[in-house]
Amino acid sequence: MAKAPKNAIQPTRAEDYPEWYQQVIRAADLAESSPVRGCMVIKPWGYRLWENMQRALDDMFKATGHQNAYFPLFIPMSFLEKEAEHVEGFAKECAVVTHHRLEPDPKGGLRPAGKLDEPLIVRPTSETIIGATYAKWVQSYRDLPILINQWANVVRWEMRTRMFLRTAEFLWQEGHTVHATSEEAVEETERMIDVYADFAENWMAMPVTIGSKTPAERFPGAVETLSIEAMMQDRKALQAGTSHFLGQNFSKAQEIMFQSEAGEREFAWTTSWGVSTRLVGALIMTHSDDDGFVLPPKLAPAQIVILPIYKNDEQRGPVLEYVESLRKELADQKYNDVPVRVEIDDRDIRGGEKKWHHVKRGVPIRLEVGPKDMEKNSVFVGRRDQPKSNGMTRDEFVAGVATVLGDIQQGLFDRAAKLRSDNTVSITNEADFRAFFTPKNADNPEIHGGFAYCHFADEDSIEDLLKELKVTIRCVPRDDNDKSGTCFFTGKPAAKKAIFAKAY
Ligand code: AMP
Repeated sequence: MAKAPKNAIQPTRAEDYPEWYQQVIRAADLAESSPVRGCMVIKPWGYRLWENMQRALDDMFKATGHQNAYFPLFIPMSFLEKEAEHVEGFAKECAVVTHHRLEPDPKGGLRPAGKLDEPLIVRPTSETIIGATYAKWVQSYRDLPILINQWANVVRWEMRTRMFLRTAEFLWQEGHTVHATSEEAVEETERMIDVYADFAENWMAMPVTIGSKTPAERFPGAVETLSIEAMMQDRKALQAGTSHFLGQNFSKAQEIMFQSEAGEREFAWTTSWGVSTRLVGALIMTHSDDDGFVLPPKLAPAQIVILPIYKNDEQRGPVLEYVESLRKELADQKYNDVPVRVEIDDRDIRGGEKKWHHVKRGVPIRLEVGPKDMEKNSVFVGRRDQPKSNGMTRDEFVAGVATVLGDIQQGLFDRAAKLRSDNTVSITNEADFRAFFTPKNADNPEIHGGFAYCHFADEDSIEDLLKELKVTIRCVPRDDNDKSGTCFFTGKPAAKKAIFAKAY
């Protein structure tokens, strides 16, 4: 009998995808669950990755004219009540603060005391509290546009949570802008979904499709929600970012009014847009393999780790000196306009264990350097995206390091793009639709079709079918959407096509 291949992660993706995902997070030391239901602890390796994502996004927000500011964590309940759809959408997920102190409980322990006159909601999103502030800031057309972003944590009391993808508390950024005209606000909504798509593809190496959500999937209170949708390795879709055109709904609720150039009092037009720590989950599920995490070089906290190899104290000194000079030389190189991020791991643990530590954490390049390599002026190079390690001269490696990192980055994108195109189909009738979304292998019901592009006439008529198959409309793609076709379900003429998929 053939020996089962040895992988660092058990179970493998093919065996149990959801469990594999949890095990990658554990093996890569990204996060762990906490004593608080649905809330996670983000560990240093995961947080360094998030910081790199933040930095890149923040630069992009600033390059498109935005500034950062900070607003309160608590929202008075009456603020949330002002926009009817908004409150309905979020009411089921709100953490509510009703007291402001603790006192000894005569039965033992403590109890809340000092009841608040008005309950405070821990922000699930900040349109209402930020809108109330904007109402004071905006008087005339000269005050517009307001282009502000906030980096913050938010709380949505989600019932089914999964680390990074859906947590009760999560970290995110939320942009909130105000404009004098509808056109400007729509333009902003489009601009920011383009920024997200640019970040997803060029930093995360994750291909995405931009599209608009159907009414049932829209953000509560929005006129239009644009999203970027990505395909994970189990062929499910993940909504990776959203940008909302809020029309005048929130400005009417919050009374954000301005005097126009013509001297009229008008309601302003607002937008909001956000991405969250869910993007870390997206990275894991897009690139990782059965040996653990695979990081795109542009976001990797360490792009190269050097592993010094020595047998005794006599060898130790010279080897450490040599790798330190190599580290400096590499850190003088630039990739993606910044110095290459390189670290030395000289912890006193077994070589094999040390190597796997970095494989599982997804470090793009490992360099093993021992006395023999020193003599030959060579390095032993292990790429996370390739199974075999190779020897090469030190000079050759240093000179080509940016090219290799770029190559890994591009390779990850190409592989993800291939998975998506291999699992995307056009479907024109119900039978094919059903077959596509029915698991082929009963042992592994997680693995199913992928993305189906179908024309559809209206959302209501297909609601039952989608529920039955646990499929959702991801978005109506913005680009290459041929307008005329026939509804796959009713046979009626249909003016739009959407991506249908199972989703996170
Ligand atoms: P929304 O305000 O609902 O449009 O969400 C903004 C962003 O946060 C989207 O990119 C969502 O994918 C993400 N997001 C929504 N809910 C959660 C959650 N519970 N955990 C992590 N990310 C979330």
